[in-house]
Parts: sequence; C-alpha cells; structure tokens
Amino acid sequence: MPPRPPRVLGDPGRPALRALDRRALRTAVLGWFAAHGRELAFRTGGRPDPWGILVAEVMAQQTQIARVEERWPAFVAAFPTPEAMAAASPADVIRAWRGLGYNRRALALHRAATAIVASGGAVPRDLAGLGALPGVGPYTARAVASVAFGQPVGAVDVNVRRVLGRIVVGDPARISPAALQAEADAVVDPRRPGTWTHALMDLGATLCRPVRPACGSCPARPWCTFAARGVDAAGLGGPAPRPRRATPFEGTSRWLRGRLVDRLREAPADAAVDLAGPHGGHSAEAVERALSALAREGLIELDARGGARLAGSGAVPAVPGSPVGHRATTAPGAPAELR
Ligand code: SF4
Repeated sequence: MPPRPPRVLGDPGRPALRALDRRALRTAVLGWFAAHGRELAFRTGGRPDPWGILVAEVMAQQTQIARVEERWPAFVAAFPTPEAMAAASPADVIRAWRGLGYNRRALALHRAATAIVASGGAVPRDLAGLGALPGVGPYTARAVASVAFGQPVGAVDVNVRRVLGRIVVGDPARISPAALQAEADAVVDPRRPGTWTHALMDLGATLCRPVRPACGSCPARPWCTFAARGVDAAGLGGPAPRPRRATPFEGTSRWLRGRLVDRLREAPADAAVDLAGPHGGHSAEAVERALSALAREGLIELDARGGARLAGSGAVPAVPGSPVGHRATTAPGAPAELR
C-alpha cells in the first residue's frame, strides 16, 4: 500500500505564529544576520538599485550564489540599466551570461529589459508589474519588491519554505502553500523587509539545511516546532546521505545544449557556424534535435543551410515555414529545457 501523504496543516490565508512570537523571532533572526549574514556583492545595502537586484535574483534562480557573486559585477557593468540591455542584441546578453547556465534566463532578462523600457524605463514596484515581466515568477517578484522597494512581502523559495515550515508546523510538507505564504507575509519585518528577506535566505542556506540542520546554533530555535520535537525524531539528524550515482553530466542534453551555445559564443558575431555532426558522446541526430530546440526557444537562429548563430547576431535567411529558419526535425510538443 502506498504511504499515506502527510496531513496538511494550516488554514489557507491565515498565519499560524502568534504576533508576540513573530516579533521575538524577527529580533533574534535579524540579530543573527547582522553578525553572521553573508556579504554578497549584489546586496547593495543602503543604495538599492532595482535593476541590479532584479538581475541578481534572476541569476540566483538556478545558479549557486558563489557563482552569481562572481559573475554579477561584470554583467551589470556591461548592462547597467534596462535601457543598456534593451539596446543590446539577445546575442550580446547570451554571451555575457556565459558561466551562469540555463541560458534561457538571459533571453528572458533581455525581454524583461525591453518590456521595462517600453513602459517608461523603471523597474515596476508592484508585485503585479514585476510578475508580468518575462522570467520573473512569484518568488523573484516578491524578493525584488522587498529588497529593492522595501515592500513588506514574504519571498518564499524552497529554502524559505523549509525554514518557515519547520518553525511553524515542524515539516514544510504539512503546511499548505497558501498558509505558508500567509506566514511569510506576516513575519516580515515591516521596517526592514529587504534585510529580513536576506536573513531568511541565509538561515536556510547555512543553518536550516535539508539534512543535519544546525539547530544548536540557530536563532529561531526557541520558536521552532521542528527543533522542539528533536531532530532525530524527524529522521534528519543522521549522517548526510551518500550522493547517488547520476548520469555523467556530459551525457545529458543539458550539457550538449550548453556546449552548442558556447561554440556560438566563441564565434565571430556575424559568422554562421556549422554544428552538424556528433558532439562529445552525442549523435548527429541528438545534436540536430538540440539545435532545433534552441532555435525554437529563441536562443539561436539557423539559416537555410543549417548554419547557426546566437539570436540577434545578424540577418538570417529563414527556411520557409520555420519561424526562425531552423530545420524543424523535433516533434511538436517535445519538452523544452531550461538552458
Ligand atoms: S531550529 Fe533547526 S529546524 Fe528550526 S529553523 Fe533553526 S535550523 Fe531550522
């Protein structure tokens, strides 16, 4: 018999912590953050730059923070404003995105910059406006709203969900998304919402890890349901599980797509590159499918002879019946990957 799913607690839309507890929790966590928070290049402190913060949050969606910190300064120096990015070609942005992975985010950021410029040039302040930008989901919209504009909204990603879920009910699987979001919104420090957002992120990244959380060092421990029950009782106090043997990265379509885009990054701006044929351990057919998918997603353009360029690199004569001039060999509806 399949295991019964955990009972979900929480009245959707109603926070669970008492107001008194929330205030004390804020004070403790913000005090911890002041002493132990990570100093990251894109945390602009008292000089909030909404565009730079939006760029950092889009980067951090699927890239490790250490890599974001390394790449963000040069990227925002190249595109310091939405206008600067909108004036560049998608190919320029994809080139500058090198090393961050999941290249579709570069394209989405270029589209977001274009949309921002079209509506006056300022990054939207409200959740609806932020959420309407390409590549910006509910978490990113709330993170930007709180960090860049000081709005008292709770940004819930997988780490914050784990932290607050453990505090409120002991297990994030036992609280509904709506109830968790209500708690996240209620617990925000209204005077320092951006600092609170960073503090919860850091707590989730450094102490409240998925396994072996460091409850003994955690400022939230006095209010934490998970810690009160005992870590071992929850089955997370033992040694970290051994990593499972996975398919070598070089064997994945993600690797192939990344290498194909890298080949185009290295090519002269207006040169078409013939990428046909096997690549690494991938067959010629797999390469052709990957190129078709990249073209369909708007990252590259293929000319009538199959030559490839990054999107917006130059005029490409289209293949009749194909929106971007690529040879449509991939079945309609095939899953698109984020790279
Ligand atoms: S006390 Fe432990 S489980 Fe609770 S928030 Fe802190 S690290 Fe996470």
